[in-house]
Amino acid sequence: MRVVRTRAEFAAARAQLPAPVGLVPTMGALHAGHRALLQAARDECAAVVTTNFVNPMQFGPGEDLAKYPRTLDADLAVCEDVGVDLVWAPGVEDVYPRGGATRVRIEPGPVGDLLEGAVRPGHFAGVLTVVGKFLNLVRPDRAYFGEKDYQQLTLIRQLSDDLDLGVVIVGVPTVREPDGLALSSRNVYLSPDERRHALALSRALSAGRDAAPQGALAVIAAATAELGREDGTGALAVDYLELRGTDLGEIPEHGPARLLVAARVGSTRLIDNVAVTL
Ligand code: AMP
Repeated sequence: MRVVRTRAEFAAARAQLPAPVGLVPTMGALHAGHRALLQAARDECAAVVTTNFVNPMQFGPGEDLAKYPRTLDADLAVCEDVGVDLVWAPGVEDVYPRGGATRVRIEPGPVGDLLEGAVRPGHFAGVLTVVGKFLNLVRPDRAYFGEKDYQQLTLIRQLSDDLDLGVVIVGVPTVREPDGLALSSRNVYLSPDERRHALALSRALSAGRDAAPQGALAVIAAATAELGREDGTGALAVDYLELRGTDLGEIPEHGPARLLVAARVGSTRLIDNVAVTL
């Protein structure tokens, strides 16, 4: 496994890799969810590249950029274990040579205004711009993203389709703790009490999924009831709970749909989502 920092080092190492190349972009602080992405790339590609970069452009003012967990040594051990070929851990100046952002940005379309986009203005432009840069710099055949960030995955599929990037975008199912909590690098912020309250998210999604044979209203009612046990108690503040089509458009009468939730538990913001069949 090679570990590189600068653009020049990366380009030299990239040129040695056999095709097809799989890319797994991450912000580090790797957990079993990231490991599943790396393993999927390892299973399907001749070479696996991962980027390890906390992207300032996707954090808003007052968000957790400064305190975001940084655990490069432990991350490298995970990468080594999965059999990654090349880890690129650039500095901010390597990705943004003109300062912490770009002049030109990739703006998400209408899907970028919903859900997370409504709560975090500019977030998805920051995500799509850095993903666009890494896709151009790495030129992978396939790129792997988690369903955990379902709206992000949807927008990255649209980015690749709409701008003809020629990369196959692969979605990987969410990895959870045995009690249902979706793995997230931000879970380290949770106190034991907060972690218990955070379980309301996955419980609400499961309740919604189980009610899906009764239709969309039943899904929302069941999930809301489960969240309501915690919401407003001060322990949990819900940003949204929404049922949408799999493309995040209109809810279908029948068939596959997606139930998505975001809530703050103390000062930690958590998101989760699940597939439902109406
Ligand atoms: P992050 O480092 O949080 O930017 O995440 C890097 C990638 O890992 C993104 O594609 C995420 O969707 C994915 N990811 C994060 N958490 C999980 C999880 N629990 N299960 C599957 N994928 C995940």
